[in-house]
Amino acid sequence: MDQLEKIYSPKEVEERWGKYWEDNLLFHGDETSTKKSFSIVIPPPNITGSLHMGHAFNNTLQDILARWKRMLGFEVLWQPGTDHAGIATQNVVERQLHTEGINRQEIGREEFIKRVWKWRKESGGTINHQLSKLGSSLDWERDRFTMDEGLSKAVREVFVSLYEEGLIYKGDYIINWCPRCLTALSDLEVEHKETQGHLYNIRYQFKDSKSSLTIATTRPETLLGDSAVAVNPKDERYQSMIGKMLILPLLGRELPLIGDNYVDSSFGSGALKVTPAHDPNDFELGRRHDLGLINVMNPDGSMNEEAGPLYQGLDRFICRKKLVENLKTQNFLESVEEHVHSVGHCYRCHTVVEPYVSTQWFVKTKPLAKSAIEAVKNGRIHIVPKLWENTYFNWMENIRDWCISRQIWWGHQIPAWNCPACNKVTVARETPKVCSHCKEGNLIQEVDVLDTWFSSALWPFSTLGWPEQTQTLKKFYPTSVLCTGFDILFFWVARMIMMGIRFMDNVPFHSVYIHALIRDSEGQKMSKTKGNVINPLTMMDKYGTDALRFTLAAFAAQGRDIKLSEERIEGYRNFCNKLWNASRFVLMNLDDYNGTCELIPNGKRPAAHRWILSRLNEACREVNHALEEFKFNDAASSIYKFIWNEYCDWFLELSKSHLYGGNDRRETQNILVYVLQTCLRLLHPFMPFITEEIHSKLPGTEGSIMKDSFPEYEENNLDLDAEKTFSTVINVVTCVRNIRGEMNLNPGLSLDLFIRTKHDHETLILKNNTNYINNLARVSLVESGITVEKPRVSASSVCDEMDVFISLEGKINFTEEKKRIEKELKKIEKDIIVLDKKLSNKKFIDNAPPEVIEKSSQRKKLLSEKQARLRIHLETVDLALP
Ligand SMILES: [Zn+2]
Ligand SMILES: [Zn+2]
Repeated sequence: MDQLEKIYSPKEVEERWGKYWEDNLLFHGDETSTKKSFSIVIPPPNITGSLHMGHAFNNTLQDILARWKRMLGFEVLWQPGTDHAGIATQNVVERQLHTEGINRQEIGREEFIKRVWKWRKESGGTINHQLSKLGSSLDWERDRFTMDEGLSKAVREVFVSLYEEGLIYKGDYIINWCPRCLTALSDLEVEHKETQGHLYNIRYQFKDSKSSLTIATTRPETLLGDSAVAVNPKDERYQSMIGKMLILPLLGRELPLIGDNYVDSSFGSGALKVTPAHDPNDFELGRRHDLGLINVMNPDGSMNEEAGPLYQGLDRFICRKKLVENLKTQNFLESVEEHVHSVGHCYRCHTVVEPYVSTQWFVKTKPLAKSAIEAVKNGRIHIVPKLWENTYFNWMENIRDWCISRQIWWGHQIPAWNCPACNKVTVARETPKVCSHCKEGNLIQEVDVLDTWFSSALWPFSTLGWPEQTQTLKKFYPTSVLCTGFDILFFWVARMIMMGIRFMDNVPFHSVYIHALIRDSEGQKMSKTKGNVINPLTMMDKYGTDALRFTLAAFAAQGRDIKLSEERIEGYRNFCNKLWNASRFVLMNLDDYNGTCELIPNGKRPAAHRWILSRLNEACREVNHALEEFKFNDAASSIYKFIWNEYCDWFLELSKSHLYGGNDRRETQNILVYVLQTCLRLLHPFMPFITEEIHSKLPGTEGSIMKDSFPEYEENNLDLDAEKTFSTVINVVTCVRNIRGEMNLNPGLSLDLFIRTKHDHETLILKNNTNYINNLARVSLVESGITVEKPRVSASSVCDEMDVFISLEGKINFTEEKKRIEKELKKIEKDIIVLDKKLSNKKFIDNAPPEVIEKSSQRKKLLSEKQARLRIHLETVDLALP
């Protein structure tokens, strides 16, 4: 018989099995298979990425589903791939060039793109390699990249189709602009932070009278771009003045006073300066009133010539300072107040975002959103947990047009060509030679690229071959489930739903499982600056990949943030070792085994065997049920409890009497192997490496455990009788062990046990299982029944309504024991006094964290219980003394 190494060494096992799976193409999803399909597309990690705990978590859950379904007999495709991550990747390569003293403008677009591809070839594979190390059963032969040829073709097809339908347009629009990255940002890419700033109250003089209006603003430099002042037409203070002209401070431009219901009369003086080129609300207001756009800034955030000679060329914040000084000296500034308000920052570089008017490309999202809302409403897509559905509806119902152009070089260049001759745009699938309007040549392609999320919105069908109608697409679309964090519900999930329905005429996935975010043990977000990051690769090296994976699964409770700590990972490493040692025990008892593993019929089995099979069956039911509902933590907990608490702690002990005595050795070997093998299969999706290794050493196994079927519940194996019997046996044994501990009795000492039962059926269970009880508790069960009397000198306890007595006569030195108990009681009394003092201290109760207070009162409760038991024991001992 093959034996396991004495100590489990994950590193060697993981490398060997990882290679075996990939060499044998065990993760391949076959599009020609007749089996029912199950498919998942990976949320594509950035090519610049390195595995962090969020990736490890997200991919562990997907891998559990993929491995589970594969063993259940589905044709599984877990589609891998990476995202080109426009801005992030461009930044990385720019930094690299910078170290060579080059900037991208010097080498030009074409050369720069070459450099990015070179970087991708050399360094872009890191994340895939790390995912593979995690055991991810992705179909690596099908690896895709958002910039590869096929996906680029899909992007063009979608862009052109939407354009032809009038769902893509180019327009002047006020967008979020990062003056540092020099690119437009979508609303989602702007981070809003509460910021301490100032509210400036500025006086605007009427042209034809001495009176004036006071206008409040947090960004005074934008007044240089004012084109009107607005009030609410219902505001009686100003009604009569609408249509009069005001004079813009400092620049002297004339501004009309207009009336618009948008203005909130209760804010400040009720008058609003209107700066259409520098504020999104003013932009809309300007459109309604045909006001001109006066752009006073350059793209880099400095002031342009429209700002006037005093300010031209100044940075926006320096301009603000100078302008405020000038307002003050010229008596336009009425007052300045401290003011906390929300300021948008660039999510990449944290520069303050500037609302800015520029020409951009947009997708009209409202027509697409309609059917995407429907799909969730009518249950074609389930969002799990359900509470996220409302967030989804809310956002989709208020969706704004999606700005898809980005001013960078790395990405899908927009397939639109400008004609210098007629100034019109040609949009085409293939690069056009001449203008579609005037037939002139010399077309110039748009320089902007598409938002990275544009290509990832097509991910569920573009990765499967679309726009070609491939067999893979037919077999695996719609995908079964998407696993993702809630932070990209709108960036990504909602857009995939819109695009999937529009281009495939079907939803991209049937379920969306939204998991929580991983935080540190205190519930803080992990960040480099806080220094609380737990690196999954370090954990895998230290404790083994299986231990990390199991921890993540065990923590994946729905809707709750995950507080991860290294101790927990260490704890599950111990679980690996426990399983390893149990398996060693089984293997060491198989030297004379011929490996049939055929179980004898149910009725003839010893009670312990029937019990463990019934419990195993229940574990199978629980695991499958939990996974159906994406309750990974419940599934993990069922397996853990069965393996540790029932199989290892009890069954291995129970099996010894059958292995080493009696006629059941062969049958017991069968059961040990059968249960272990089933456990390994149950556990495989969670701990793929250790289960393969142990499985390969068991008799009668060949190849990968992945080829075995996943254990399912079987009515036949349910045996409530055996479960009832063994819960009694286990409780009695536990009870005796507790008494032994409390009475300080030597574990090797053989004791006489008496049990007074309430019912005859209990007596019967005890009589039928005396052997198990005697062996496990190291006692001899002298008497059991309804009329059993308490022995004169005995320790006692209550167990399942039965009275359990252990005779102490001749077993201990009572004088010594009395001394010991009294000493211990004294100590406990002292401890209780200290705790009482603490718990009645108002200062402690008011200031200590609730969990600390809870800990103290728990401890007090335990001590009081122990005190009560010791007092009873003391009485018993007193009884025995002369
Ligand atoms: Zn930026
Ligand atoms: Zn033309």
